[in-house]
Amino acid sequence: MEIPFDEREELREIAVALRRHLKTRAGAGVVALPRPAAPDTTSPSSPPPAIVFDGPADASVAESKSLEELRVAIGDCHRCKLSSGRTHLVFGVGNPRANVMFVGEGPGRDEDLKGEPFVGRAGQLLTDIITKGMKLRREDVYIANVVKCRPPNNRDPEPDEVEACEPFLKKQVDLVCPKVIVALGKFAVQCLLRSKQPITRLRGQWHEYEGIRLMPTFHPAYLLRNPGDKKLVWEDIQKVIEALKTT
Ligand code: URA
Repeated sequence: MEIPFDEREELREIAVALRRHLKTRAGAGVVALPRPAAPDTTSPSSPPPAIVFDGPADASVAESKSLEELRVAIGDCHRCKLSSGRTHLVFGVGNPRANVMFVGEGPGRDEDLKGEPFVGRAGQLLTDIITKGMKLRREDVYIANVVKCRPPNNRDPEPDEVEACEPFLKKQVDLVCPKVIVALGKFAVQCLLRSKQPITRLRGQWHEYEGIRLMPTFHPAYLLRNPGDKKLVWEDIQKVIEALKTT
């Protein structure tokens, strides 16, 4: 059954409000809601309990209650072949309760050496977008990548690497629960939206990831090569600024 657009919007807003409420409770030390009574599975009329498979995530990742716990659960990760070439696993940085989360593709050389996302030239441009454009501090937002380890020679991450790492990003989004995600560049955008559409089509329009509003825009590294497109990114970022005022 097709759900009308306005009802979908309403459901999305309810979901976002509930997530933010739970996040606030968690911040106040309440980490769990009372569980509803278990369904009576002995009665023939009760449906069997749902079994949710959520990718290859291990239980400690899925059950992490904070970013620190998640980092511990990821550990000295060897879940995919990228681990063999890394210096540091680049987890993510920023405000664990940020309203805006930026998601890039994966660490480059500078990030691999430092263990922090977006610290090279592209990172400086991202920092300028955050500080000069959005009038925020870098530490006010949260910054992460689709994959946490540097692909050799900065090649695109391969599907098995994305699949192995995706539960970590999903959990980061779940824990930070931002109002808006800004996905940076073709790779991250297509990955998060599970789309093959070109970035030129996807950027500048609102999409959704895990129930959270997502704005795709060009990658800062692309802007270094194509400075003429900075004005398009600024248009996208202005939409984000507006959404943050109203959400
Ligand atoms: N490019 C990315 O996508 N992520 C980084 O952290 C750095 C460069």
